[in-house]
This record gives sequence, structure tokens and C-alpha cells, in this order.
Amino acid sequence: MLIILLFFVAHWYLSLFMQTFLQHRFAAHAAFTMNKFWERFFYGVTYFTQGSSYVSPRVYAIMHRMHHAYTDTDKDPHSPTFDKNLFVMMWRVGRLSNGIYNQNVELEPRFLKNLPDWPALDKIGHSVWSRLGWIAVYVMFYVQFAPSAWWYLLIPFHIMMVPFHGMIINWFAHKYGSVNFKMKNTSTNLLKVDWLMMGEGYHNNHHKNPSSTNFGFRWYELDPTYVIIRIFSRLKIIKIHKPVQAL
Ligand SMILES: [Zn+2]
Ligand SMILES: [Zn+2]
Repeated sequence: MLIILLFFVAHWYLSLFMQTFLQHRFAAHAAFTMNKFWERFFYGVTYFTQGSSYVSPRVYAIMHRMHHAYTDTDKDPHSPTFDKNLFVMMWRVGRLSNGIYNQNVELEPRFLKNLPDWPALDKIGHSVWSRLGWIAVYVMFYVQFAPSAWWYLLIPFHIMMVPFHGMIINWFAHKYGSVNFKMKNTSTNLLKVDWLMMGEGYHNNHHKNPSSTNFGFRWYELDPTYVIIRIFSRLKIIKIHKPVQAL
């Protein structure tokens, strides 16, 4: 049982860390920079940790920039104000993400500036064979180590890890929770569950100051990803250019 729990927790946090660190803060917001070697390194880690639900950091960044530009309007890629329920929202996000990847969606040039890119890896990561291969890996792991078939209920979370994390923020952090900053959008902070979300839960803070590397604002809003970012910066793996908290 322990090995299954460890596998689930490791997959949850590693996949989420790469989403918030690479796809969100680096690719979409350029909150820090890194050289080509580290960019490719983290791209590769993102592919391995997100597996069957890998989203190209480039695609993620474009869609997320659209979210900030059009929050809570009919042009927002995901919005509880316009989507009937969270499954409809996830379906729409999936379609748009594929459309952007396959270049059959018209995009405003402002969303395409300074994007990281690794087309060869994206081609593998977005292929059906890669997605099916990862699903097979998850299933085989559970068949090998799960103490009973009940544990197989966790397999869909592994398969859909990236959309599942996205759904928590895109739906719940635009519908429930508290605010530090009153703005003309519905963003909220999910303070009580951020220990599951590595800083992403401070979504109201983030909408107020999107390019900040630190998503926490109040002293008790610890952003674990920011702690790791500071360590990477000390180790000269990344460079933080923008002010950490310009509030
Ligand atoms: Zn938002
Ligand atoms: Zn953002």
C-alpha cells in the first residue's frame, strides 16, 4: 500500500511543480529566465512527470495568457461564469489546447512573444502513442503493487493529472475562496487547500500581480514553489529579473 501512496503523492506534486514552475511562471509569465540547457532539462522533466496528460509549455503559455487577458469574458478559455459545469469547461480547454498545438486556431500576436519551444519533444508528448504508453505504465504499476482492485480508482487521476490540477484552479479559484484584492474578476485564494497546490491556490494574489515569482502575499501564505525558485536562483539555475512582490 505504501508504495502506491508514495507513487500517487510523487506524481501529484512533481507534475504540479512542473506546471506551476515551468508552464505557468516561466513560459506564460516570464517571471524568471534560464539558459537553453536548463530550459530543455525542465522541458524533459515536465514530459516525464506529466506523462499521459503532458501539455506543451508553449501551448499552456498561450492559453494562459488568453485567460489573463480575457478573464471572465466569453473569450476566456476557461471560466465558471461562462461554462455550464466543470466538465464542459475541461472539454473546452482540451479542444482549445489541441487546436493551438495543431495550429488551427487564430491567435493574437501578443500571446506569441518570448515562448519556450521544443517541437520534437512536443511531437512525442502530444502523440497518441506516448499518451497510451504512459497509461500502460500507470496501469502496470497498479497491477504490480496495488493491494486490491479498489486502488485502481486512482488510475484516472494519474491519466488526467494536468487537466485535473487545472480544473481545481480554473473552476474553484474563480468561484469559491477568499480575496486579498478586490478586482474586476472572480479570482479567489484557496488558502485552505493550497498545501495541495504548491502556491497555485493563491490565485487572487496572482491575478493582481501576474508576473511576480511569489504567489503568496500575507505572511501566512507560504508558496512552496517560490521557496524552490529561490533555491534554484541561489544555485544560478535560473535568474529572477522581476520584482518579487510589487504591491
Ligand atoms: Zn484565473
Ligand atoms: Zn497566470
